[in-house]
Amino acid sequence: MALVTKAIKGTKDVLPKDVHKNQYIEATALDIAEKFGYKELRTPVFEHTELFQRGVGDTTDVVQKEMYTFDDKGGRSITLRPEGTAGAVRSYLENGLCNETLPQKICYITSCYRYEKPQAGRLREFHQFGVECFGTKSPLADAEIIALAKSLFDTLEIKDLSLEINSIGCPTCRAEYHKALKEYFESRREDLCPTCQERLDRNPMRILDCKSPVCSEIAKGAPVVIDYLCDECKDHFDKVQKYLDVQNIEYTINPKIVRGLDYYTKTVFEFVSNSIGAQGTVCGGGRYDGLVKELGGQDTPSLGFGMGLERLMLLMEAQNCPFPQENAPDLFIVALGDKATLKSIEICKDMRAEGFAALMDLNQRSVRAQMKYADKLNAKFNMVIGDDEVESGTAKLKNMTTGEETEIALETFVSGFYNISLAEQLADLEINGEEFDFGSLFGVGE
Ligand code: ATP
Ligand code: MG
Repeated sequence: MALVTKAIKGTKDVLPKDVHKNQYIEATALDIAEKFGYKELRTPVFEHTELFQRGVGDTTDVVQKEMYTFDDKGGRSITLRPEGTAGAVRSYLENGLCNETLPQKICYITSCYRYEKPQAGRLREFHQFGVECFGTKSPLADAEIIALAKSLFDTLEIKDLSLEINSIGCPTCRAEYHKALKEYFESRREDLCPTCQERLDRNPMRILDCKSPVCSEIAKGAPVVIDYLCDECKDHFDKVQKYLDVQNIEYTINPKIVRGLDYYTKTVFEFVSNSIGAQGTVCGGGRYDGLVKELGGQDTPSLGFGMGLERLMLLMEAQNCPFPQENAPDLFIVALGDKATLKSIEICKDMRAEGFAALMDLNQRSVRAQMKYADKLNAKFNMVIGDDEVESGTAKLKNMTTGEETEIALETFVSGFYNISLAEQLADLEINGEEFDFGSLFGVGE
């Protein structure tokens, strides 16, 4: 019974009073992505399960433990996307973006679904801002996507985020490394969790990413991949660092970062905060040179990142980062009687056509109740019209901040409103430190 009034565990509503904050973050993210040449791609919330098994990798926690997978009524195995990259690659191949000029740069804001233990910064439905750059092996691209993420953090005025980078090499250097890892973990096989015992045979690097305390303790002494890089991977990593240096982007090299997803190669990185508790990784990304081919395309070196928007919000709130004010209605009309109601409908329509937010009471309550309602809505201006005002063709427009009232003609209401509100906004401005009476330009104010 009570189930119908309870959201599913690990999901969250964004309420109307808060949504402007999300809209601000999302608009800023898309705006910055555009400055770097990234265009938005929208893909479905579900895909064939196999896409994620192959694209995320079937030795990862995401695929082994966290996916929302079900059979639909046609008997197909469907999975709600746990991340954005696999669907983006699928769409890139299916829609022939791979035949356009490379690199193809795409970005997205999407919901993701993972069956995890909900806690601060860890939800079952969460949202990511992600970017993917298909078709470049240049380290310029690695430095550029890191700069994109950094630029978003800077624009949102987030402080104290540390950028950690690493290189996990290519299949060539990784073969050597896997051997060394296997040797190391083999001696502790019995102590590893069952999943990691299996990983030891299939993909020992995954053990480094295991969240179990025992496994992560054992992993502390494991050999690090950066010591096994081939010349090409070493050179690539050096260049990425050089291109970050020239932009004054600070970073530390953390040889322990291997990232949770199977398809990463060469550069991997994370932006980490210690302002929001244990779930401090706000953004993770890197190169995945093998993925597009793995999913049936040509050999296409590519890279990207995913940024957790709920964690970003937590961080901004913890740091008291500035958010824009919620938009308030420009005008609320208190209408009394049928004639005034008709006139109000007209004025609201004309106001909205000119880009103003204009409201009236749909419940046609008493003057007092309407006034109270206007106050709650935080309208900038208020106007009462009844039979008398309709008759005389004029009413009083009240500025709800200053309490000032100005006579306004109903016939030419919108242009009158425009002049009054603009004059009052300009009156607050100063020019060269001097107040200037802009109001006089419009023949309003004192
Ligand atoms: P974690 O180590 O915290 O589990 P991850 O390696 O699984 O993270 P990615 O798959 O790289 O995370 O996803 C990119 C980003 O998405 C993360 O850095 C994080 O900000 C966010 N994220 C991942 N899982 C969740 C979740 N369950 N709830 C909220 N945000 C998440
Ligand atoms: Mg995870």
